[in-house]
Amino acid sequence: MPVLQKLETLTTIADLRAWSRAQRSRGRSVGLVPTMGALHAGHHSLMERAVAAGDSVIVSIFVNPTQFGPKEDFARYPRSFDADCELARTAGVEAIFAPTVEEMYPTSASTYVDVGTLGEQLDGLARPGHFRGVATIVAKLLIAAEPEHAYFGQKDAAQVSVLRKLVRDMAFATELVVCPIVREADGLALSSRNAYLSAAERKQALVLSQSVRRVENLYERGERSARLLESAALAVIASEPEIDVEYATVVDWATLLSIDNAVPGTLFAVAARVGTTRLIDNTIL
Ligand code: AMP
Repeated sequence: MPVLQKLETLTTIADLRAWSRAQRSRGRSVGLVPTMGALHAGHHSLMERAVAAGDSVIVSIFVNPTQFGPKEDFARYPRSFDADCELARTAGVEAIFAPTVEEMYPTSASTYVDVGTLGEQLDGLARPGHFRGVATIVAKLLIAAEPEHAYFGQKDAAQVSVLRKLVRDMAFATELVVCPIVREADGLALSSRNAYLSAAERKQALVLSQSVRRVENLYERGERSARLLESAALAVIASEPEIDVEYATVVDWATLLSIDNAVPGTLFAVAARVGTTRLIDNTIL
């Protein structure tokens, strides 16, 4: 059994900065894994990747209010701090950063980071202001922790595009590391929001990953027409009439704009509502 280290819990930006600087003064690189908590095996895979890279790993747990719309699930978003700490500890994480909302957004704060029209595509279209909130909180975390590496999941593929642009545009020194989607045995992409699904919805939700597999299979067999790939995905999802598709689209991963023909590296992404729960999935072709 590996000897697990003590997990430090930090709550202020000043302590995060000091912790990070202390790691570097001991010759360690810092790996940051930003999360909203309710941690699962998908988050765990990011932590493992960071630990394997040799980083001193810190996980932030912060349900970021600025990335939720007024009618979204901020108040009821699942919170499980003690279990989260245990999961992080078993992954070899050294510290948790769990600030209050007031710490990250002092009452007078009025400065935000906006990535422009890129933030208005895909999830940004249905969730106005979402990516502004994401870019703002990640920028703050990168400024405070100055990590050598920050780990994100491909699960949130549009978020990855937005954050790559943020890092490039603002000249952050952090390298973004994008990790593959972790799925349940039956294909469902792990998500903290899966906890909202009833047993019936959990079954219906499978058509998202099935649509992703369908697009992958067609692409592997030589299909390149984006419209054809999209309609094949929609046909799979239509087998569950209860599901409300928001988008099922073939786009350039960097610009998130629709393209006519898929090429290696093209993103197929899908978002749908299963009952009141909004789920996403994707693949890089
Ligand atoms: P969240 O707590 O949902 O904001 O997610 C925190 C990080 O974990 C993000 O970079 C997500 O993309 C990543 N993540 C969430 N679900 C998965 C998954 N199923 N597989 C891999 N990474 C994931």
